[in-house]
Amino acid sequence: MLRRNFIQASIIGTGAAAMGCIDRRKKEDLASNPDLDKVLAEPVLKRSYFPDEVIIQSIELLRYQENFICRVRSTDGAEGIAVSNNMQFRYLYPIFLGRLQPFFIGKDARDLEQLLEEVYVYKSNYKLQSLALWVPLATLEFAMLDLLGKIASKPMGALIGDIHHKRIAVYQANNFRGKTAEESIEGIKRQVAETKAQALKFKIGGRMSKNQDYPPGRSEALIPLVRKTFGDDMTIYTDSNGSYDAAEAIRIGRLIEEYKLDFYEEPVPFDWYEETKEVTDALLVPIAGGEQEPSMRNFRWLIGNDALDIVQPDIFYFGGMIRAMRVARMAASKGKTCVPHISGSGLGYLYMMHFVSAVENAGPYHEFKGFNMDIPLHCETSSLSSDEGVVTVPTGAGLGVTIDPGFIKKHSIVNL
Ligand SMILES: [Mg+2]
Repeated sequence: MLRRNFIQASIIGTGAAAMGCIDRRKKEDLASNPDLDKVLAEPVLKRSYFPDEVIIQSIELLRYQENFICRVRSTDGAEGIAVSNNMQFRYLYPIFLGRLQPFFIGKDARDLEQLLEEVYVYKSNYKLQSLALWVPLATLEFAMLDLLGKIASKPMGALIGDIHHKRIAVYQANNFRGKTAEESIEGIKRQVAETKAQALKFKIGGRMSKNQDYPPGRSEALIPLVRKTFGDDMTIYTDSNGSYDAAEAIRIGRLIEEYKLDFYEEPVPFDWYEETKEVTDALLVPIAGGEQEPSMRNFRWLIGNDALDIVQPDIFYFGGMIRAMRVARMAASKGKTCVPHISGSGLGYLYMMHFVSAVENAGPYHEFKGFNMDIPLHCETSSLSSDEGVVTVPTGAGLGVTIDPGFIKKHSIVNL
């Protein structure tokens, strides 16, 4: 087609050539977004809390069974620790050791924001962009924010923004794919009764399943059933995990609208950007997405072109709170909300709570997959449990919890 256009243009002359120019200008308009670029240029980390330099003396990776801890120490004796997203990190830790750890030693932790930009290029790390780079980098960032929070006597959230939410309402997430609509609704009812959440999210489609449903017809039966079961006052979200192409996503979306669900997540595979926009343009129900998105530039496109109504960066999968805050701020500048995704294992829920506490345009309910009791810890400022569907964000310094020192001692240092 391109070749044919070129030949026609050369025969017909200036008229067709001018059309070519118009096409190119249109693409530039899509890429140009000075408002979002201004937001992206604004600093996130509150450097003013740190008058003195904080030189990173050591970065250790500790392992006990499948639990990974990053411990950062400064030359003046401050310490920060983070528990990784262990589900992913067990496969990715050599990247942490070989591609990140050496870069940060001797650097000033106050420069964290700039260091995140530099380490992306260091050893061509950008070629690893996605979970491979971002989960290890987020782990390191959380340890550094814990350390900085302890120095400034501030919780992590206060280092990346003002505290807007001290308590966070949660929605009950579940996954009963493979079960019939009737079996699924019993499971959803049981879980909502346990947490007393005022909102819930249920799965439809088959997860990246090219329009297949498991069992067939489950989603179309379940969408009306969930609304009927919980009534009009319940906030109900649904997630297809990229199950559909655009046409099927829109067809299912019409049913979602009929039963007044409150958002529709990942209607098509996450990197089908044009199709995501096509679905969003066709439907009135808010479209949510972004949990798999690794690229700031792609978020900028999705937000700038109104392809998403609700952004859902995962703070581990997207490389930490500072990067995720930029996404939230871009979304805020366009009147959109941020409902970060939470990935399982480790202390993901705690990091998510700190992040949400600082997000002005956070959605009304946030994902809850239950608390991880495998890591023994103590928190003086929060029960870390869902109280009538609401959890309190810890207010102590850094992460705001104390992990049992005896548990940390069980870990051994990991080297390449
Ligand atoms: Mg999802």
